[in-house]
Amino acid sequence: MSNLFSYWEQKSFLSGFDVIIIGSGIVGLSAALYLKLKQPSLKIGILESGFLPAGASTKNAGFACFGSISELVNELESKPESEVLEMIDMRWRGLEKLRNNLGDSAICFEQNGGYEVFKESEADLANHCIDKISWFNTFLKPVIGKHDIYAVSSDKIAAFGMNGISNIIKNKYEGQIDTGKMMIALLSRVQGLGVTVFNNCQVQKIEGGSSDKIIISNQGSFKAKSVILATNAFIKDLVPELDVIPGRGQVLITEPIKQLKIKGTFHYNRGYTYFRNIDGRILLGGGRNLDFKGEETTEPGVTSGIQNELEKLLYETIIPGQKPKIEYRWSGVMGFGKDLKPIVKEISPGLFCAVRCNGMGVAMGSLLAEQVADLVEI
Ligand SMILES: Cc1cc2nc3c(=O)[nH]c(=O)nc-3n(C[C@H](O)[C@H](O)[C@H](O)COP(=O)(O)OP(=O)(O)OC[C@H]3O[C@@H](n4cnc5c(N)ncnc54)[C@H](O)[C@@H]3O)c2cc1C
Repeated sequence: MSNLFSYWEQKSFLSGFDVIIIGSGIVGLSAALYLKLKQPSLKIGILESGFLPAGASTKNAGFACFGSISELVNELESKPESEVLEMIDMRWRGLEKLRNNLGDSAICFEQNGGYEVFKESEADLANHCIDKISWFNTFLKPVIGKHDIYAVSSDKIAAFGMNGISNIIKNKYEGQIDTGKMMIALLSRVQGLGVTVFNNCQVQKIEGGSSDKIIISNQGSFKAKSVILATNAFIKDLVPELDVIPGRGQVLITEPIKQLKIKGTFHYNRGYTYFRNIDGRILLGGGRNLDFKGEETTEPGVTSGIQNELEKLLYETIIPGQKPKIEYRWSGVMGFGKDLKPIVKEISPGLFCAVRCNGMGVAMGSLLAEQVADLVEI
């Protein structure tokens, strides 16, 4: 640490850590929560490079979801049933943990249902998915515990006021949260338990063997007995050999819309595009499939190609005849890999990681956090 830190700062703020967590997203904050609940006396610090968390956790769409049928059909084309079922189980259990940890009212959880929409031009895909409803209801019963998850709901097309949509499949157990409120609640929960979060603190290197770790950052060096890497898409800067590929997701939000007809979470095109209501507005995001290579980046930014396609879908299909202004546009970065399974492991003695939620960390992040906290032995 720089000599300019006072005696008090060095003694009380900057030393004596049992565990340092890198990254203050859902996974990093929840890992701190689980460690503190297990062992309240632990001294835990979280180092976060951003002024606010700079990954996906404050930038996502807030879907509390576990899979639309076309997405799952797509996954099953290349993955065994057991792997897909395990992934859904992780999403479902993760959501239960998130809700238990913070409470439904703090995160504004609402179970308005999820809807997968199919355009008129996608009749073959729609029919294939509809034919599969009964199979998926049986397939998911062991993990969701219900037998009536998906059902045809095309009679709602008129009520939603959409144009060019011919089929809808409803998932009645899907919900939505307010992402900002969830992150504030998580942050204040861990801070209330005595965890210190250091912002603008970019970790450059981790040194040390099986005893104490030295964490070198742009603010100086920290020492801790154990380190958890919860840096998701950015993990390659610190551990290049891990299979985590960044994938940027772009989002827009309209101005408030009078008599907004849609309510719930909506999936389109195998989950690559999604929209929902929030505060009387529409949030619409995705479109990474339009430019996979260009979006394989940790750089923030929106592109006219993807934003224009999102706007086209909004104005022509979701709210035909209306043209509300777009008031917000942003991006966030997710961590993907060949396997659907996240990476939760001890990389070397005392150095752990919990990364790669494959774009579903609102759902499975709390579970990963608990798993990595269980690996840490102090
Ligand atoms: C546009 C978008 C929409 C999404 N929608 C949904 C959804 O509806 N439902 C869902 O389940 N999931 C969704 N996700 C995915 C979900 O947000 C992520 O999977 C989840 O937030 C990952 O959490 P995390 O804690 O692992 O990583 P992050 O939130 O990415 O946190 C990693 C943190 O590490 C910090 N960091 C990185 N490197 C360093 C370093 N060297 N030193 C210090 N700090 C560092 C970063 O600044 C960042 O804050 C979406 C993601 C995006 C981008």
